Amino acid sequence: MLHLGLTGGIGAGKSTVAATLAECGGHLIDADQVARDVLDPGTEGLAAVVAEFGPDILTKDSRLDRPALARRVFGDEDALRRLNAVVHPLVRAETRARLADLPDDAVVVHDVPLIVENHLAAEYHLVLVVGADATTRTQRLQRDRGMTAEQIEARMAAQADDTQRAQVADEWIDNDGDPDAATDQVRQLWRERIAPYAANLAAGRRAPRPERPELTSPPQGPRSWAVQAEAILDRLRRAGGDLVLTADHIGSTSVPGLLAKDVLDLQLGVADLTAADRLAPALAAAGFPQVEGHWYDSPKAGLAEPGTRWDKRFHANADPGRAVNLHVRVAGGPGWRYALLCRDWLRNDAGARAAYQQVKEHLVATTGSTRDYAAAKEPWFDQVWPQIQAWAERTGWAPPQP
Ligand code: ADP
Repeated sequence: MLHLGLTGGIGAGKSTVAATLAECGGHLIDADQVARDVLDPGTEGLAAVVAEFGPDILTKDSRLDRPALARRVFGDEDALRRLNAVVHPLVRAETRARLADLPDDAVVVHDVPLIVENHLAAEYHLVLVVGADATTRTQRLQRDRGMTAEQIEARMAAQADDTQRAQVADEWIDNDGDPDAATDQVRQLWRERIAPYAANLAAGRRAPRPERPELTSPPQGPRSWAVQAEAILDRLRRAGGDLVLTADHIGSTSVPGLLAKDVLDLQLGVADLTAADRLAPALAAAGFPQVEGHWYDSPKAGLAEPGTRWDKRFHANADPGRAVNLHVRVAGGPGWRYALLCRDWLRNDAGARAAYQQVKEHLVATTGSTRDYAAAKEPWFDQVWPQIQAWAERTGWAPPQP
């Protein structure tokens, strides 16, 4: 099941986009609505809130007096924490119950205004942000909801801003202009990314990749490769729990300033390969199915006996919109260590970066497939290995502690 998180500032057009996603086949879960439903008259939730805060938060006809409850918790962190401790588990259970009967390839659209504020982005396979500039949003809310400029300003000030939202946005839906333009964008997104991602996820298969390698410049703006990688690492840590000992961005996209294929290389460190195999189903459910085959890195001189291999597990993205190579290696082992060392050497040595870039450009121009390109880079790394070792010794390089 594919979980989409849909968010945006007040008045941006989240409900409008949610309706289009529902038309495309998405199952809507409105987080605010669920949070209200679990405190309806006669519910276990309402009884628990009354037990915590007393009967003063009820109206005369025994319904929840929302303004009274809001006054009770406003500015009182402890009271808010106690309220959340009652409501959040009920919201999660109710959400699960509503999803129980959906098929494996369903797309669930979670309409959650405060994804950024509450750090919830890692709970979803994809986060969609609906954006429109503050003046447009203010005009819409005054026109359609009768809010005053002051009320709107206060709400906006309490929410995250668009730069913060852009950092978690796997997709940004621009709703500044004609509503039809946003609707078209959403429909196209559904066809090209959401529907195929959901199908891949249900089938446990990776998304196809272009046959030929192509180098691109690092993306500018809030969605740098580093920001995108960190967002995915958060999802992987959450999915893998205690089995994930380390989670790092590695490879060319982790080196600022280097041209690279638009593929994020990520590395998870695990206790041993048995743990890697136990982790595999959780990674697949999070959107990163294991790729069949015997995967290993070629050992470097001095780090292993000749003829030995550094076995690993390899996973890749089911999402056709974001290519990821996910290497699962034994934390502290030589392959795990080597990946981090190469990254740090390239990050710290401008000459090494320039030399590597030249090699990449030459190989892209002369090799055919992505596989040939990847293989052709190996001899260069063998050649510079003494340099890398010397750098590590000189600087006292040590990997992060697993
Ligand atoms: P949100 O759920 O993000 O707070 P809504 O979807 O309710 O925002 O949109 C706010 C208001 O603006 C609604 O009345 C909606 O009909 C209107 N609206 C949404 N998108 C557009 C658009 N592109 N142009 C004009 N009005 C819009």
